Parts: sequence; structure tokens; C-alpha cells
Amino acid sequence: MTPEVREKYEVVIGLEIHAQMLTQTKAYSNDVNEYGAVPNTNVSAITLGHPGTLPMMNKKTIEYAIRLGLAFNSNIAEAQYFARKNYFYPDLPKGYQITQDLTPICTGGHIFIKDEEGAEKKINLTRIHMEEDAGKSMHDMDVYDTLVDLNRAGTPLLEIVTEPDLRSSTEAYNFVTEVRKLVRYLEICDGNMEEGSMRCDANISVRLKGAEEFGTKVEVKNMNSIRNVQKAIEFEIERQIEAVEKGETIYQETRSFDALKNRTLSMRSKEAANDYRYFPEPDLQPITVQEDAIDAVRAEMPALPRDLFLKYTNELKLSDYDAYNLTDSKDIALFYEDLISKTSNYKAAANWIMGDVKSYLNATGQEIDKFPISTESLAALIALIDEGKVSSTLASQKLFPEMLKDQSKTPLAIAEELNLIQDSNEDSILGFIHNVIEQHPEEIERYKNGEKQLVGFLMGQLMRLSKGKADPKAANQLMRKTLDEL
Ligand code: ADP
Ligand code: MG
Repeated sequence: MTPEVREKYEVVIGLEIHAQMLTQTKAYSNDVNEYGAVPNTNVSAITLGHPGTLPMMNKKTIEYAIRLGLAFNSNIAEAQYFARKNYFYPDLPKGYQITQDLTPICTGGHIFIKDEEGAEKKINLTRIHMEEDAGKSMHDMDVYDTLVDLNRAGTPLLEIVTEPDLRSSTEAYNFVTEVRKLVRYLEICDGNMEEGSMRCDANISVRLKGAEEFGTKVEVKNMNSIRNVQKAIEFEIERQIEAVEKGETIYQETRSFDALKNRTLSMRSKEAANDYRYFPEPDLQPITVQEDAIDAVRAEMPALPRDLFLKYTNELKLSDYDAYNLTDSKDIALFYEDLISKTSNYKAAANWIMGDVKSYLNATGQEIDKFPISTESLAALIALIDEGKVSSTLASQKLFPEMLKDQSKTPLAIAEELNLIQDSNEDSILGFIHNVIEQHPEEIERYKNGEKQLVGFLMGQLMRLSKGKADPKAANQLMRKTLDEL
């Protein structure tokens, strides 16, 4: 497709994200909720929906939904009603899911993402509702049969539905990335798309720029990474524009993404869509969420990535790039928060974390919670550099690696032991300067004749003679002063 044709169209995308809650038990029973257990071991009669069993609402799910709703700035409904969504499927033992139909727990709300140009864009939510997961059918474990594991049946889910506000695959990518970051900060879902604990369906349509009405949307499922969400959308955009250009009609349908072939395939048309026959769940009483319950959750809300980002850029004057990197993972952000409670050199603290600390974590495959150096020691290291006692080069090359090995000594003690303390003593620096002057009479002559840039070369010689230990700032000043007095 030519860029001219592509340019004629506007893309419209709305996302539906399912997030599995990290509760200890399932949504409506006491079955253990855990990923990777021996198949079909966490399955009670309630999960199976046997006659005479009664579901019971897990209060934690409501609390988690409120947490997410507060993070999105949504309205939180006072009364929670539940509905049955009926359909037959081998991995749905009850024959229905308990969900929320017309009365979702959260309505409205928004988050900010970056658009194509990197500018901030507000994406509005339609709703968040509580429901339960089905079991899992595995088609590739056995040669002849499909195997069913019902452990997942009844796992609490939150479904997040956006308004059709996204305008490109990049915006969709950024939105899912933000939501994943958010649920991880809130500690309500592990956000792991590869394991299916967070899943995303994309609704995509195209229309001529300036058109009033949206085009017909197509829903795409089965993307197991954020990158694949983006790829599936890209494929759909091309397919739909090409079809429209040829005068074909886009039919409302559900399509599946094939990651190997990098394309979407039709699964079912709207006509073949299920009629779920929603009706009020007769076995669950409506639940009232009181204002003080919401206040209690609000009081316990952790810092959110956007708040930290704004704090780092506005108050600490870090660059957007630094702030984005530091807030990408909650553990790193908390480590940084801890570090800046012990040093006021915010930029140096950010540099150490994003540089030497992250290199160490990457090289050893460790997470920050296992990082051997305490924030106290890192702050002391930053102070040593700021006080001019150790050069930042030696701090990174010699001192930091030694601190990784030995946490029993202070950075100062290690620096003294390794003889890394930088010389800012005027007499000894003058000694080096005189040596340099003696050893390089020719350059000194040229300097005196106006080649002032030679100070760089002479400083290099001085640092070599001092084995890197002369304080460069003090040495530079003294060098210029001495040379100009010659
Ligand atoms: P359905 O009734 O098929 O479930 P909804 O109106 O509830 O459709 O919307 C489901 C999702 O599709 C939402 O995320 C919404 O933003 C998105 N959506 C709705 N219309 C369009 C459209 N024309 N193009 C792209 N996305 C759309
Ligand atoms: Mg809908």
C-alpha cells in the first residue's frame, strides 16, 4: 500500500483487557488461585457448579477492582450486581460465567499515554467489571486429544474496556504497556501476557479522514505479547484499507492473530456470535460498596508511575527519559525513592541506578531486591564523588565493583584501602604540574605563544602522572594559573 493511500485513512481502536487477579483464592469459592499447579487439583464442587452449591464473593476482588478504578480515576458504583453469561464450552464446567453485565463496578476514568509524536494523550475508559475466567483447553499437549485443566476456572478477572480513543498501533502498544505497569504497581495482577494472566482484544476500524461515522469494527484476539497486539493491529489496518479501497465491505467479525504467519484470520462473523442470554445471577446477593470501604482502599494506594514521573521531572528536574526509565518498574522506582532519601544529588542517584546498578542486574540476571549494595552505601559513594575525594571514573571502575564484593566496609574505607582517594592537596598537585612542565618544554613554549588549547594535553599528562588521583577540577585551575604565571 502506498503512503498516499494510507494517509487518506484514520484508524480507530478500542481495547478490551482482561487481567487475572493475584488473589489467594478464586472469585466465588475458596479454591486456591495459583498458576502452574498440578492440573485439576484446585477445583471444588463450587467451581464445577454442581447443583446445590453456592458461590460466595471474594471481597479481595472488589478491593482490587476499587484499586484499579481509583488509579484510572473512574466512578465506583455503590451496588454490585452480578449476571450470568451462558454458553457451552468444554472448559466452562458450570455452563456460564458469573460476570457484571449492565452494572460494572467502575465506569469512566482515563489514563495518559504517549502518542505517535511522544506527546501526552488522554485515553478514556468505558468501564471495568469483575468476572471469572474459564478453564484452559490445551490442544498441543496430547497427540489425539484436547486436554482440559479446570484450575483456571473461577480465577477472578477484571475486564478493562476503553473508549474508541486510540488512533494507531503505537498508541495501542503504549496503552497496554501503561496498563501493565499500573496493575504491577498496584500489585493486583502480574501483567504477564506470555502466561495469559493479562490478555488483550483489539477492536479496529478504519474510516476516511474527516468522516463523521466510525467504520465497521473487527475484533482481534489471541495476542500473547504487547508487540503482537501492535503487529495484529498493523496487519488489520492494511487489510481493512485495502478492502475498502477495492470497494469491498468490512464485516463485523472476530478474527484470531497467528503470530507465526503474522496475520489475522476470521474466527466467526457477527451473525454467528454467541447469544449469551445474560440474566441476573440468582445465587449472589447484590453487594454494597460503602464510601468508607473506598476511602480505606484509597488510603492504602501505592505511589503510581505517573505521580512519580511528574515528581521526578517537575521537582527533581530529571529528564523525561530518566524519569521514564526509573518508573518503568516499581521495584526500581522504590529503590530510587529510598536512595534519594539519603542523598540530594538526584541526578547522580539516577545515573548510578540506570548505569552501573542496572548493568550489574542485567549481567547477573538478578532483580533489584537482591542487589547487594545498600542505598546507604550508594549514597555514601555519591558523597565521596561530590566531595572530590574519589573521581567518578575510579568510583565506577574500581570502587563500585569492590563494594559489590564486600558489604562490610564503607565506601570510604574501601577507597582508602585501594588507594583511590583523589589528591586535591595543592602542594602535591603543584608537584605534578612542575613535573609536567619539566617533561614538556616544547608544549610549554607553544602554550606561552598562544596555543591555549594545549592545556588539555598537559592535564592529560598530569592525570597520568597522578595515576588518575588528582582532583581534575582543582588540578585544572592550578594548571592554568601556574602556566599563565610562567
Ligand atoms: P460490542 O457491543 O461489540 O461489545 P462495544 O461498543 O461494547 O462493542 O465496544 C467494544 C470495544 O470496541 C470498545 O473498546 C470500544 O471502544 C470499541 N469500539 C467500538 N466501536 C468501534 C469502532 N467503530 N472501531 C474501533 N473500535 C470500536
Ligand atoms: Mg460490549
